[in-house]
Amino acid sequence: MDALSALSSIGGYRAVLEAATKLPKFFPLLTTAAGTVRPSNVLILGAGVAGLQAIATAKRLGAIVSATDVRPATKEQVESLGGAFIAVEDEEFAAAQTSGGYAREMSPEYQKKQAALIAQTIAKQDIVICTALIPGRPAPELISNAMVKSMKPGSVIVDLAVEAGGNCAASRPGKVIVKHGVKIVGHANVPGRIADDASRLFSRNLLSFLTPMIDSETGTLNIDYDDEIIAGTLVTRDGAVVHEAIRQAEPKPAKAPAEIQEHVDGNG
Ligand code: NAD
Repeated sequence: MDALSALSSIGGYRAVLEAATKLPKFFPLLTTAAGTVRPSNVLILGAGVAGLQAIATAKRLGAIVSATDVRPATKEQVESLGGAFIAVEDEEFAAAQTSGGYAREMSPEYQKKQAALIAQTIAKQDIVICTALIPGRPAPELISNAMVKSMKPGSVIVDLAVEAGGNCAASRPGKVIVKHGVKIVGHANVPGRIADDASRLFSRNLLSFLTPMIDSETGTLNIDYDDEIIAGTLVTRDGAVVHEAIRQAEPKPAKAPAEIQEHVDGNG
């Protein structure tokens, strides 16, 4: 049972396809009698499950791919997929991964250095896929409005983190907007756009999750509250929130509806 990996992977794949169909360019290098088509540049922010699948998908389509993350383990993973790894690799970076394998929220000093690096890189990109998340915290804001402005008109940003507040300041949940000539895709529930496989994998995960809670002889619910998986996923019991991470989770920040220059569509 691993609903997160199964669905994040689908999200990363689909995000690249969304971007590819919205970009007015080819992905691969093409040499034709009518001239040479230069390959597209794709930058992936966050190289976890979704980000790594996005790298693999963009590479298969022939793009030049780079990626960034704050966890050192991702460097080798990005490079093994043929991506170029870019990051602020200081002492804080060396300790950014928690014992659970996820990212910590970085200090304001690190965020400043990271913003300078992304600002330098982003202007050369045709596509940016945003996947950076921090468990229990709002998503880190990695693309400012000024960075969007520095991009070439026609470029595409797909913000998979939009439902957690977004990695891009300009993205809006459920909307595709154009800002400074850049198309910013904020689809909610992106794995639902590959509905057949998403449903198949998710239902399999749910079955594997629920089966140990059912008494195989009587067919009735029999929950073992000491079981590691149940203890780790139980949200409420006897009227109280018992899950530590959910108790401490912050509400996601609301984004103002302003600043949209052109609203393209909601679902397409
Ligand atoms: P996630 O969805 O929480 O985050 C996505 C990525 O964003 C992560 O790689 C994270 O490091 C990165 N990120 C966070 N802040 C960032 C910032 N400021 N700048 C750039 N990147 C930033 O994480 P995930 O994709 O679910 O997976 C993270 C790790 O957990 C991986 O090591 C993965 O293999 C592991 N994992 C394990 C299991 C399992 O054991 N079954 C399941 C899922 C994931």
